Amino acid sequence: MKFSTRAIHVGYDNAGHNRSVMPPLYQTSVFAYDHVGEAMPYVYARSGNPTRSALEDCLASLEEARYGLAFSSGMAAIDAVLRACLKPGDEVVALADLYGGAYRLLTQVMEPAGIKVRFVDLSNPHQLESAITPATRLLWLESPTNPLLGLVDITALSAIAHRHSVKVAVDNTFATPYLQRPLALGADIVVHSATKYLGGHSDVLLGLVAVSDDKLYQDIRFVQNAAGAVPGPQDCFLTLRGIKTLALRMDRHCDNAERVADFLSRHAAVAKVFYPGLPAHPDHELAKRQMKRYGGIISIKLRDDSREAANRFAQRLQLFALAESLGGVESLVNHSYTMSHGSMPAQRKAELGIVEGGLRLSIGIEDIEDILADLEQALRE
Ligand SMILES: *Cc1c(COP(=O)(O)O)cnc(C)c1O
Repeated sequence: MKFSTRAIHVGYDNAGHNRSVMPPLYQTSVFAYDHVGEAMPYVYARSGNPTRSALEDCLASLEEARYGLAFSSGMAAIDAVLRACLKPGDEVVALADLYGGAYRLLTQVMEPAGIKVRFVDLSNPHQLESAITPATRLLWLESPTNPLLGLVDITALSAIAHRHSVKVAVDNTFATPYLQRPLALGADIVVHSATKYLGGHSDVLLGLVAVSDDKLYQDIRFVQNAAGAVPGPQDCFLTLRGIKTLALRMDRHCDNAERVADFLSRHAAVAKVFYPGLPAHPDHELAKRQMKRYGGIISIKLRDDSREAANRFAQRLQLFALAESLGGVESLVNHSYTMSHGSMPAQRKAELGIVEGGLRLSIGIEDIEDILADLEQALRE
């Protein structure tokens, strides 16, 4: 079956569910045994729930993985993978230009627990070679990155990591499996904040992991059950419902973002547009190879590089709410400096190029004419 068909059908079989077309919400914490010692598929909702299984199996299929695992948030998913793969004394190499929450988890939770983190600019894959030591166990990647939409070559980096027996994890939140499948490119682990495009309607917080390796699955599954950061059935249901329209939504997000990137890159009030679909983007050729299309997120730097100018623009926008997060059907604008990357030290933001006059736009699926008109009026002198 093709992608859109799997998004709608895999993970759930209506037989045994009163032929209910949608997966029922198993709003229960516990399942009853017939007799002592019975082998049961579901026992207690922390270890498993049929609504959650439907979502986990669907995600596995979309990522071309053997196993899926669901968590109560994207951060809980990242945390579970890190705990499953690392013990005190181990090292992780992480992409320098990382999501703020992942950066905070690595530096303020993992490092104090005895794990060494090396942040490396991996735009040239060969820079990985010198960062790996005999203690390195994991490579942590994100592509495209938040907020500046840089790409890394997942295939080349995975090949180098594997030569050193280092596992590779990719945060695929921005691309979604519709646009990019990291396991097929050579990675071992995919993580998602399903809060974003997979859920797609800004109404659920959820994290997902996909793997094919049995040992990795067992280890992450152990943390999932032992630490217990699992989603409830309602959140699994909402995420599954979102996934059914993922292909449709992503194509519209991409159509709209391509038009917006083109419009903004020709606007006098905009100094720079970061979008991998633009031929001028430094990773445009890599994006063409690695992704089906270029996604719905665009970052811009205003010509007036001040917080006041960023604020004026954000406040003038009518359709775009000034908010954290991304990937919902509605357009959003985010001031990365104070919002998504607020927890990152100023020095680090300066190194990465996250500036006061920078804004990240999550382009929704509204009519493109309305989106362009809103941006036009907000940028007017
Ligand atoms: C939002 C986000 C996360 C964190 O996910 P939550 O669901 O908010 O916990 C992780 N990675 C990326 C790239 C994100 O955008």
